[in-house]
Amino acid sequence: MTAFNAYQVERAGDAMASRILTRETSELPEHDTLIEVLYSSVNYKDALSANGAPGVTKHYPHTPGIDAAGIVVSSDDPQLNAGDEVIVIGFDLGMNTPGGYGQFVRVPGEWVTPLPAGLSLRESMILGTAGLTAALCIEKLLWMNATPEQGPVVVTGATGGVGSVAVALLANLGFEVTASTGKESQFDFLRALGATEVIHRDELSEASNRPLLAPRFAHGVDTVGGVTLSNVVKQLEPQGSVAICGLVSSPEFEVNVFPFILRGINILGVDSVELPLSDKTRNWVKLAEEWHLSNLDDLVTEIGLSGLDEAIERIYAGGVVGRTLVNLKLD
Ligand code: NDP
Repeated sequence: MTAFNAYQVERAGDAMASRILTRETSELPEHDTLIEVLYSSVNYKDALSANGAPGVTKHYPHTPGIDAAGIVVSSDDPQLNAGDEVIVIGFDLGMNTPGGYGQFVRVPGEWVTPLPAGLSLRESMILGTAGLTAALCIEKLLWMNATPEQGPVVVTGATGGVGSVAVALLANLGFEVTASTGKESQFDFLRALGATEVIHRDELSEASNRPLLAPRFAHGVDTVGGVTLSNVVKQLEPQGSVAICGLVSSPEFEVNVFPFILRGINILGVDSVELPLSDKTRNWVKLAEEWHLSNLDDLVTEIGLSGLDEAIERIYAGGVVGRTLVNLKLD
């Protein structure tokens, strides 16, 4: 039994309250693998969990953190040994299973990816769920035979976690990237990540009754949903594809069949949570090897548990730029 620090949220009337408290590993759920967490990160879903959003976390008090990277302390899973460096993202971690905002987690071995050679634990959590999701979006575009010669790929919500990693990965793969953002102050940040063009998100957020608009983008990565997604679909070049993963603007979007039957457009859904571990692992290996980003430090703000309140508030308000790394060894 080991005592450790954890960030915990609970309902306080209609509001939520948070605090850092001491817990014991004996209080963690009875799964087969105990991991000492060295790094976690802040994702949009963590903000939903911490804010008590419906349908995310059912039971409070709760320790959020859908991402964790650290060292196996003990495991009954034959694939895992004490001392292994590992990554856990998604499945139920941080949802109803105490997550990466605690210095220890206990999870089923089938949620655990061995850290691939070429990636440090710190880098894995700068990427985190957001980075893996960006990779999954791009993998799907490549499965549809997207190539740089076809023209620009639009990335919406570009300064966010998924968006910023998608911009960097696409640029590294040789794609022209049009980054769409609501933050005029961050145009240079996006250009430095490799965007060839930066547009204000207002250009994509006006509703139109027209079934099709002039083609503008070869492909897209959409984290926003709503009218923005409708406009991206209507502005894709023939045979273009858009990988969709998010809903920061709205989970609804309206299109008719014309982009699909007149231009052959493809909408590619991306889920990083319940995706089989083998698919997650394949993309972690890519991120460690041929898709490895050498500029990850340009994306990161590093905090300890005491910085979580502010980071969660910022991400919930759409104010995030890049990725927020949680270092469990900091205060
Ligand atoms: P972030 O909060 O890091 O980024 C979201 C970005 O979206 C913001 O930085 C902002 O970028 C933009 N934005 C915020 N509010 C609005 C708005 N009202 N209208 C238009 N744009 C807005 O979130 P993540 O990158 O972590 O996640 C993005 C989305 O993807 C979320 O909905 C999340 O739930 C989802 N997601 C889904 C996954 C899956 O498996 N399907 C996995 C990971 C995330 P800017 O100012 O540059 O426009």
